[in-house]
Amino acid sequence: MAYRIDPEFPHQSGQDRAGRIREWQAQAIARLRNEQAEAVETPLIELPLARASGIRLFLKDESVHASGSLKHRLARSLFVHALCNGRIGPQTLVVEASSGSTAVSAAWFARLLGLRFVAVVPACTAREKIAQIEDLGGQCLKVTDPRTIQLEAARVAREAGGYHLDQFTLAERATDYRASGNLAQAIFSQMAQLPGGVPTWIVCGAGTGGTATTLGRHARYMGYPTRLAVADPEASVFHRHYEDRSVSRIEGELSCVEGIGRSSVEPSFTPDVVDRMVVVSDAAGMAAAHHLSALLGQRCGPSTGVNLHACMEIISEMAARGETGNVATILCDSGERYRSTCFDAEWCAARGFTQADAHPALARCLPLRERTAA
Ligand SMILES: *Cc1c(COP(=O)(O)O)cnc(C)c1O
Repeated sequence: MAYRIDPEFPHQSGQDRAGRIREWQAQAIARLRNEQAEAVETPLIELPLARASGIRLFLKDESVHASGSLKHRLARSLFVHALCNGRIGPQTLVVEASSGSTAVSAAWFARLLGLRFVAVVPACTAREKIAQIEDLGGQCLKVTDPRTIQLEAARVAREAGGYHLDQFTLAERATDYRASGNLAQAIFSQMAQLPGGVPTWIVCGAGTGGTATTLGRHARYMGYPTRLAVADPEASVFHRHYEDRSVSRIEGELSCVEGIGRSSVEPSFTPDVVDRMVVVSDAAGMAAAHHLSALLGQRCGPSTGVNLHACMEIISEMAARGETGNVATILCDSGERYRSTCFDAEWCAARGFTQADAHPALARCLPLRERTAA
């Protein structure tokens, strides 16, 4: 019988090795818990609305996390989940399929824990993004067909004896909707301090669906009257599935808004906690991202634009019915990640995206100040 020598601890007995791994795991979990405890809570920004009396709009700015997006919380939760399940040890190769913010955040946490990380990315992924993952010590494995990145990530992990983070499956169970530190608890506890209290409506997009699930479950768990709206790109399957649960897949071109909209319903999306869907065209989302960036003097990504467009829709309906209340949504990431797409004039022109696609309420309720020439 061949005796397999584990390269992790070649000179130790099985018992010693297991003890060492357990000790490392305990330290890794403590490190992640410390990182969370020491992180400054992300700010809530009010966008003062003109001509909408009694309605207030707030953005939870998740772009200020150390790894730059709302995926910071998810990546932390996925690592904690894996560690508490005993699935990651000091030599484990961690793998995820993502070209976007999840890969950046996972690379950030892998570096914190001293783990090797491979992102399986579509070959067409922008060079800036690959550089960002590599700067954090991650490695990018390019795959020609973007639809196969999930399968490829699972295969790489299996063959290397590594661990696949699997955000689309595990987002909803890795995030504890009851605990503090999740995005929902953070927003609701900040909003509760304000006049008007917790939001009447909370709006988010769905990629994994994890954010929507956590917001919906937390609101229900806490007994808040808040309604949850999911802003979904036209090309996404989620709103079709919401209308008809027998639809779980669509063909055709995907949305060019990164991070949201899927062609298959992901396991972390739970439609029963969603009160409504708002369908948003890519053009309207891009226009809202441009408008908001000009308003804030700081670029935000296109999925944030999609969220803002849906807020404008909801606020217009509330105003028409004479309702008052707070509305909250998420600033998911910075627009600096989209310099070669959403914030590239040629890229937008080639797709026919213009500011004329913006929601009419944007200019009315969130007017841009006239800039005086110097
Ligand atoms: C992942 C992501 C979303 C959607 O969040 P989920 O919790 O995955 O549904 C929205 N915007 C950006 C930029 C993202 O990366």
